[in-house]
Amino acid sequence: MAEMLENPGVPSLSDFAGQGALYEGMMRTLRDGTFVHAYLISGPEGIGKRTLARLMAQHLLCTGVEKPCGVCPSCQQVADGNHPDVIIERPGEPLCPDVERGRKLIPVAEMRYLLGLVGQHTFAGGRRIVIIEQADRMNPQAANALLKTLEEPMDGTIFLLLTDAPELLLDTIVSRCRAMKLHPWEDAYILKVIQHRGVSRDMAERAVAACGGSIGRALSIAADEDFWKLREEVLHDFLDLPSRGEILRVSNAWKERKDDADALLSALEDMIRTLLLVRLGRQSDAMIRDYPPEWRNMAASAELAAFIRLLDAVCDVRRLRLSQVTWQAALEKLLLRMMEEKSKWST
Ligand SMILES: [Zn+2]
Repeated sequence: MAEMLENPGVPSLSDFAGQGALYEGMMRTLRDGTFVHAYLISGPEGIGKRTLARLMAQHLLCTGVEKPCGVCPSCQQVADGNHPDVIIERPGEPLCPDVERGRKLIPVAEMRYLLGLVGQHTFAGGRRIVIIEQADRMNPQAANALLKTLEEPMDGTIFLLLTDAPELLLDTIVSRCRAMKLHPWEDAYILKVIQHRGVSRDMAERAVAACGGSIGRALSIAADEDFWKLREEVLHDFLDLPSRGEILRVSNAWKERKDDADALLSALEDMIRTLLLVRLGRQSDAMIRDYPPEWRNMAASAELAAFIRLLDAVCDVRRLRLSQVTWQAALEKLLLRMMEEKSKWST
């Protein structure tokens, strides 16, 4: 796996060899031409979902011999994002001129417009690829409109749905797609890739510890001073909680920072994940040397279920944010669970 990076600047399908069974299944499908009409590519942000979708589109549309050749006009157009038979749906960047830009969700008007495009003849007379990024952002009506199309697929049209939150998709959509779940990359591989891209060794090691196995995320945090500042804050506010009285202070302080919520939850999740990896012996103790001693004790001897409970607690906050529960109340619940766990490990 560590040897597969031949040209770090231009990703190729073989870069996904480290994904094991997913890679083998995909290559078999591409070789044999046994495509289904919809795939659900899932995995954390920055893991390579868009890269993979683009490479699949190149392969499916390539006019060269060794697919994807990367040099035929079709491969070039896909790489440049302007192939006429590749439709890319991105929340906030509607294809439909009547849909307002910058919306978080994909509304049904946009989906109907998209499906209208899909109903037309392709430009090249061959396949059409529809890539829906952040597919979990389809509102329920849009998802249902898409579902009808997935139930009665059109010849030659292949949908690639991308999501980092598959649990937010309708079960009926999920069941209509073949799952392609990207798992976190190995640390050594990420370290190599991001150093190739110019990140210093020292920063690369810190970024790898905090990126959750995502190459894209490792690259972005390596260049992000705010990330490291936020990590300090999370360490102080969420891991270092000295007493119950602090819960109100912390939740009050974060109440006004709704825009930072995603970043906060990701940072916290990464830190819990690092604890788990240390527990499993897959990361060194050095990764948690600045954590409070209770958490280091936990990483030395807790049962795995304890880490899963904490990760679940973070997931719950994400879910609660989508419901009527206030951000502050969701945070207090999380803080309480963190504090309960921490109290088990004081010496
Ligand atoms: Zn080609």
